[in-house]
Amino acid sequence: MTGRVAVVGSFNVDHVWVAASLPRPGETLAGDYRSGPGGKGFNQAIAAARAGAPTDFICALGDDAGGALARALAHDDGIALHDMRSDAPTGTAGIFVGEAGGNSIVIGPGANAALTPAFVDAQRAVIARAAVVVVQLESPLDAITQALRIARGAGAVRVLNPAPANVAVPAELLALADVITPNETEFAALLDAHAGERIDATAIAALGDDTLHALCRRLLPHGTVVVTLGAAGCFVSHGARRVSEAEHARVPGERADAIDTTGAGDAFNGALAASIALGPGCSLNEQLRFANRYAALSTERAGAAVAMPTAAQVQARFG
Ligand code: ADP
Repeated sequence: MTGRVAVVGSFNVDHVWVAASLPRPGETLAGDYRSGPGGKGFNQAIAAARAGAPTDFICALGDDAGGALARALAHDDGIALHDMRSDAPTGTAGIFVGEAGGNSIVIGPGANAALTPAFVDAQRAVIARAAVVVVQLESPLDAITQALRIARGAGAVRVLNPAPANVAVPAELLALADVITPNETEFAALLDAHAGERIDATAIAALGDDTLHALCRRLLPHGTVVVTLGAAGCFVSHGARRVSEAEHARVPGERADAIDTTGAGDAFNGALAASIALGPGCSLNEQLRFANRYAALSTERAGAAVAMPTAAQVQARFG
């Protein structure tokens, strides 16, 4: 099977400062610095490629060092890059990491904000040949909506990772998805916006399975909802499109010696997309088990895109 994954999304250069605490307003601290590639779209594309799927990545880049970095790294991982050249600088994220790994982040979307539906439309052939199309919310909503429309027309599995949580998801975009993959915070935000339910994100994991399932069904009546639950793995609720499987299940996470959970959700999404593309005969619950393993191993490595393991490394670690 050689099903392809197409990711439409963001690329950022992450600038990370690690200090003993987060700087307070007016405070200056000394700390360690590192920089590296990131952006939810790019992280997920790298994860899909390293998990073994031939991968296309559609994004917008500036004509600068960040854009050159994206091109070089995509090439290194065998990812087919389809980049819109923007006058704006390549996207950036400034990340302060303080005590106990807590962080504060400012994102400069730059070129990511310039991705247009017209450019996405020009990539119609790339999207239409994919078995799975994945989008997130760090790109303009009209551009990712266009991607899912093309994917629907071509019969691809459409995965919407509704992240970050502070971006409102229009009902039309939600309805275009076959699978949505919110974490607990994103799930709470979606329930508030689309089901009129106010539930604290920290209370989600403790809800009973039947309650969770009923909430998922109200959010996406016909599709599949996968709520990621950190170290606990994920909860999956199937809609009418997948009547062959148990209607809902908890898929336990793998025990990991986590040192950096940045990008765990991206690892999960990329691995899940690859697994669906490569093994359409496999049950979704099996694919979720692989995504949990893949994401767990990514937490044992520092960084986002650079922390993504290969399928062989996942096999060696968890069998
Ligand atoms: P996000 O990174 O988007 O906040 P989660 O925290 O829910 O999302 O993590 C996504 C996935 O990563 C989980 O479903 C799980 O498979 C894996 N994961 C996250 N944290 C851990 C951990 N500490 N140990 C093992 N697996 C983890």
